[in-house]
Amino acid sequence: MTDRFLPPSHDGLDRLRDLVAGARDIVAFTGAGISTECGVPDFRSPGSPWLVHKPIAYQSFMASEQARREAWRRKFAMDDTYRHAEPGRGHAALAALHARGVLRAVVTQNIDNLHLRSGLPPEKVIELHGNGSYAVCLGCDKRHELADVRASFERTGEAPRCDACGGPVKSATISFGQPMPEDAMRRAMHAVSRCDLLLAIGSSLVVQPAARLPLIAKTEGAALVILNRDPTPLDGFADLVLRADIGDALSRVL
Ligand SMILES: [Zn+2]
Repeated sequence: MTDRFLPPSHDGLDRLRDLVAGARDIVAFTGAGISTECGVPDFRSPGSPWLVHKPIAYQSFMASEQARREAWRRKFAMDDTYRHAEPGRGHAALAALHARGVLRAVVTQNIDNLHLRSGLPPEKVIELHGNGSYAVCLGCDKRHELADVRASFERTGEAPRCDACGGPVKSATISFGQPMPEDAMRRAMHAVSRCDLLLAIGSSLVVQPAARLPLIAKTEGAALVILNRDPTPLDGFADLVLRADIGDALSRVL
């Protein structure tokens, strides 16, 4: 199951088509699997460049200038491995649900910005782990553009400081050890507890607290569909489990 996809059965795709057709208020919960066909590496895959350019934990980032420099060096090295990534068929399928007026939100664990680039409006995209396509000042929350940060880093070799307050500037992602963003979690809880269909797509559903969200939807009466390459701990709670190529399945159904 790790290197070959089972071809999705017609029954499974038909059932997904029916569930989507009958839903009025859909939430998609997405993980790395929706972006792998776009060339964004999955942290969990063997040989992943994430393991070479391992992100620096939040406490280390805060503790030393040297760690901040190293964090930025790895961040730019990692970005270079997928800088040509474009939204894929899965992103396009969810954008199509939005166009039909039945998508409440996309709750994502991904930091690759591809849901926004696929045309979803920002208010529909809830980023639990932040967004790696820009940076923020940890002192005053001012947004900083990566191109500026990179130019400065390459010129001086120093970790960037905020021009407004002098605070450290960090990629707008949620690092290991950094608290989950409260506003995003609150919006995600609100969305999943009110939807009538939750599509869990490309997530192994093991990282907490995000992995609880599909269960909350199910408990509140939504139908739960899990589309992922590998089995997940929540498969037994799902109305439908599809172990299929994500881009292929979603483009055929949506
Ligand atoms: Zn600042």
